[in-house]
Amino acid sequence: MEDLGFNSFCKTKESRMPVYDNNQGISRFPEFLKSECKSNLLLGSEKLRWLTPKAFLELDNMLLSINSNRVGLVKLVVGNTSAGYYKELENCDTYIDLRYIPELSCIRRDPVGIEIGAAVTISKAICALREAFRIESPSEGAIVYKKIAAHMEKIGTKFVQNTGSIGGNLVMAQREHFPSDIATILLGAGAFVNIRSGTAYETVSLEEFLERPHLDSKSVLSSVKIPLWELEKGRNSGVDRKLLFETYRAAPRAHGNALAYVNAAFLAELSSCGSSGGAVLNKCLLAFGAYGKKHAIRAREVEKLLTGRVLTARVLYEAINLVKATVVPEEGTGSEAYRSSVAVGFLFEFLSPLADATIGISRCTLSSKDAEENYEEGGHVKCPRMLSSSRQVFQLHIDYRPVGEPIVTSGAALQASGEAVYADDIPSPENCLHGSFVYSTKPLARVRGIQVNPKSQSNWISGLINYKDIPKGGKNVGSMTIFGSEPLFADDFTQCAGDRLAFLVAGTQKEADVASRLAIVNYDLENLEAPILTVEDAVARSSFFQVPPFLYPKEVGDFSKGMAEADHQIFSAEVKIDSQYYFYMESQTALAVPDEDNCMVVYSSSQCPEYVHATIAQCIGVPEHNVRVITRRVGGGFGGKAIKSMPVATACALAAHVLRQPVRIYVNRKTDMIMAGGRHPMKITYSVGFKSTGKITALKLDILVDAGIYTDISPVIPSNFMAVLRKYDWGALSFDIKVCKTNTVSRSAMRGPGEVQGSYVAEAIIENIASTLSVNADCVRKINLHTHDSLMLFHPDSSGEVPEYTLSLIWEKLAQSSEYSQRREMVSEFNKCNVWKKRGLSCVPIVHELIVRPAPGRVSILRDGSIVVEVGGIELGQGLWTKVKQMTAFALGLIKCDALEVDLLEKVRIIQADTLSLIQGGFTAGSTTSESSCEAVRLCCEILVERLRPLKEKLKTEMGSVQWEMLIQQAHMQVVNLSTSSYSGPDFSSNRYLTYGAAVSEVEVNLLTGGTTILRSDILYDCGRSLNPAVDLGQIEGAYVQGIGYFMLEEYTRNSDGLVTSDGTWTYKIPTVDTIPKQFNVEILSSGNHKNRVLSSKACGEPPLLLASSVHCATRAAVRAAREQLQSWGYHDEYGPTFNLEVPAVMPTVKEQCGLDNVETYMKWKMSTHRVEQ
Ligand SMILES: Cc1cc2nc3c(=O)[nH]c(=O)nc-3n(C[C@H](O)[C@H](O)[C@H](O)COP(=O)(O)OP(=O)(O)OC[C@H]3O[C@@H](n4cnc5c(N)ncnc54)[C@H](O)[C@@H]3O)c2cc1C
Repeated sequence: MEDLGFNSFCKTKESRMPVYDNNQGISRFPEFLKSECKSNLLLGSEKLRWLTPKAFLELDNMLLSINSNRVGLVKLVVGNTSAGYYKELENCDTYIDLRYIPELSCIRRDPVGIEIGAAVTISKAICALREAFRIESPSEGAIVYKKIAAHMEKIGTKFVQNTGSIGGNLVMAQREHFPSDIATILLGAGAFVNIRSGTAYETVSLEEFLERPHLDSKSVLSSVKIPLWELEKGRNSGVDRKLLFETYRAAPRAHGNALAYVNAAFLAELSSCGSSGGAVLNKCLLAFGAYGKKHAIRAREVEKLLTGRVLTARVLYEAINLVKATVVPEEGTGSEAYRSSVAVGFLFEFLSPLADATIGISRCTLSSKDAEENYEEGGHVKCPRMLSSSRQVFQLHIDYRPVGEPIVTSGAALQASGEAVYADDIPSPENCLHGSFVYSTKPLARVRGIQVNPKSQSNWISGLINYKDIPKGGKNVGSMTIFGSEPLFADDFTQCAGDRLAFLVAGTQKEADVASRLAIVNYDLENLEAPILTVEDAVARSSFFQVPPFLYPKEVGDFSKGMAEADHQIFSAEVKIDSQYYFYMESQTALAVPDEDNCMVVYSSSQCPEYVHATIAQCIGVPEHNVRVITRRVGGGFGGKAIKSMPVATACALAAHVLRQPVRIYVNRKTDMIMAGGRHPMKITYSVGFKSTGKITALKLDILVDAGIYTDISPVIPSNFMAVLRKYDWGALSFDIKVCKTNTVSRSAMRGPGEVQGSYVAEAIIENIASTLSVNADCVRKINLHTHDSLMLFHPDSSGEVPEYTLSLIWEKLAQSSEYSQRREMVSEFNKCNVWKKRGLSCVPIVHELIVRPAPGRVSILRDGSIVVEVGGIELGQGLWTKVKQMTAFALGLIKCDALEVDLLEKVRIIQADTLSLIQGGFTAGSTTSESSCEAVRLCCEILVERLRPLKEKLKTEMGSVQWEMLIQQAHMQVVNLSTSSYSGPDFSSNRYLTYGAAVSEVEVNLLTGGTTILRSDILYDCGRSLNPAVDLGQIEGAYVQGIGYFMLEEYTRNSDGLVTSDGTWTYKIPTVDTIPKQFNVEILSSGNHKNRVLSSKACGEPPLLLASSVHCATRAAVRAAREQLQSWGYHDEYGPTFNLEVPAVMPTVKEQCGLDNVETYMKWKMSTHRVEQ
């Protein structure tokens, strides 16, 4: 169990995977594993049948026989990707795979169109359509094939495209009301479908198919036919005619892997009107879908209105108003007004170029979408669709080699090859069971009972553990912090939706997950007080957590005096910020194995094994030396694997203790999202005074922090928030902070806890001041940056010496490297020339306080000279092991053996954290654990070098040269103690320090959809002297992108009971390759010597996340330009410069601030300022 390497798990005799060799070209699949793949385990299962008919007749017989002796559920499948969307709680027992029926996989092209078999994958359909376009060009109708193929490229991922079928998608749309793209675009192209029922075939239009009752289980969709459109010949020959086809989708991710808010496809046949020169629409098909109706529709009324008319501004205006009345989502869809508004935008985008001739709006209409694919605007930022470019700059320091070198992350190859072993990769011990949490869906209720649902087979279930199973001497405790503990399970009373009620244990993880989802909880709500679900409720009912006085931040100056000095004052402005989920790749994981003599070994994916250990011991009521927690590495933590990992491991340990069997869990994403809590939501009300120059004189804030039901680490949030908000000189600073206790899941630390919110609120205040004064927000920022004197006032414990204050230098340097001034002018020029796209530019600084905590380390040198290192810090992907390795090599290298430097690095191995081997590991948190772990190791090495030095000198004198291996061999023989441990406890006078950075971002906003594109971000960040610039660049970029997620994309929504509803990747959108800045430049500022820091280094794990607010602020600047334009068209006085752009600035939010009816307003304005045909 201790040896966690892949090769120890491999059952074959040939136990090693071949080593990847870059020079060998393509790596071949290892021969010895091929025999493993021949296993037909899946097909041979007695419980499940996977049938593969080779002909329709065989399928008919199968369906007949199954229907007559049917016991379980039957499902026709092709790729079975629908299982990713419609999670099956009740398992089918028979799957019929349609892929081997030749007619379903056929693609036929003829002069009237292309017929695609229902089982053809999306990828193959794309290829076939591209080929058909090539062959049919220059026929006008060929464009339809090309556009459909291009749109299909945005469906799902490549995996979905390669596996999912066209037919499967259409049946999902018809039967399950899936918000399909394929249904919409094929509807817009006038497609037909062929259906086979028994032996009968039927061809109907796709429109009719979608409107029919659900396809029954005996019918099979056999193919879809896309007609090849041709211009009508004969009539009015000699008249110019044209066929247009275009598709649209507005989705949180522009290039795919996100379902659309709304999609559309429009086909139009036009001719020019002889007298006016305008365009006449002879025929049009207008399809809209995914907007919150059962299925995609043809907007027949709009089609009727447009057909045969000369397209004038008036006609277009009528048409878009009719679209607005037609494309109406069902209530409860979410963002209803937004979806209708985007549908209007799509039709406008399609038709407005055609209305040019009559209303003369050519200057202002959109360029063609084709040109947009690779557009470059007026010599401005070149913006390829998908790819991004980057620049990474750092200065190399070699004085502490190999510290300071950009060494490849330790274990990178293991991780890239999949060989790295995470807690869930450990093979299950014999008789291992699997657990899953049953959680509450009510915020405040008595729990009368929890029953296993008869639908889940009872033979699956081994136990339903709850608080009553805590052994005598144990305690109902699931996590511990210095502020108190949290129960493992709710007792007879649940206090929040997402509360842990029980732990269901079954034979497999799937069985446990399904049974826990189906479990029946009997709630009793009678005569209970209403739950506290908002911070306002908490204030009304005085429901607060105490903040210990030593953690409560200090005020600065005299607020009333500051306000009196101000020329302008803003009173009681409000900012609200919501939560964020961690979205680590590896979910919460643990494996508990009972050991002899009432001991328990637990493998846990935790950022704080020491606390997991103590919690388990308390819960099962054993001394701490009976528990051992092992953590090798964690697949992403971001704070979520700190407190929240404790109940997961403790539940497994308790179940293992009760059942006397090993128990493990891999918490499924939905449950994890519901129970995780995430970042603290807040409501801030502030009053601020400032001079006409923008210089701020006083700020007062009332801050309500939503902490949820348990304390967790919430009492630290006020000090974290205020520490970062102090990045500007506010003159006087006064505040009141309340940590509210609400009936929601307790919030926990998340990368930059409280700090992200503090930094953002500072920017929101600056933006408000700038809007009030009608000046550029970056000028207001600059004028309020600290001098070193004001820095000392606001950060008395951490301001450091004058040369350490690098923010002004960063500000100037970044302005130059990002070409800030030139780009400001270009942005303003761009905004003048473009009606439907606006750009914004913003520069945001950070001043971030970091605290160094104590950390343990142990270094042991083995007989062959190899070195084993243990540290309290956990490798979370932040490169801690890499830096520790470098530090060990550097510090042991000071012994100065011959030819040592490079070799020594390769001799170091960092091993897993084991709470009985190295104690006091503490939390891996707050960005500084790498440096404190390095310091602990440095201290160990110092001792070892001292012990080895006399022997080395002696050998040197005797032999002239000393090799490392020889020295160590001799040392072992001469009984030198070659293992030592240390505990690095920083001096309290210097355990806090500040670090600085700034980011400039440029964002483009599409005013028709509210979509944003980050054109460029430039970051300059002070790492002191980076311990490893490659690792630090990765940390800076990663943190920044996670920040982009928070500020722009990730909506962690809850229902009215406080139960999380964004509980999977369908609804919660983290950034992907298409979100990151198109141009992403990062520079590490090497700011020289910092005498109290570990080899002059400064941390960078969390602070750069805060810089992502520059993207939000740049978006705001673009929206401000859009609002100025909207105002210039009249009708809208309410769209002034002062507005609140919520976080995250998702598409509906941005569009709402740009005007949901901006198209209609524009049209009205155009019609009123031009002579238009009525
Ligand atoms: C991560 C992800 C992202 C996605 N994103 C998008 C997107 O952006 N836009 C979009 O439009 N779609 C999207 N999809 C949906 C995807 O296109 C469909 O899941 C896929 O096309 C279904 O094909 P399949 O072969 O896997 O169907 P299956 O899952 O095998 O079947 C789906 C359903 O259709 C039935 N069925 C299948 N074939 C037939 C047939 N010939 N006759 C009768 N019944 C049949 C099955 O019984 C089942 O009920 C996404 C899916 C995933 C998993």
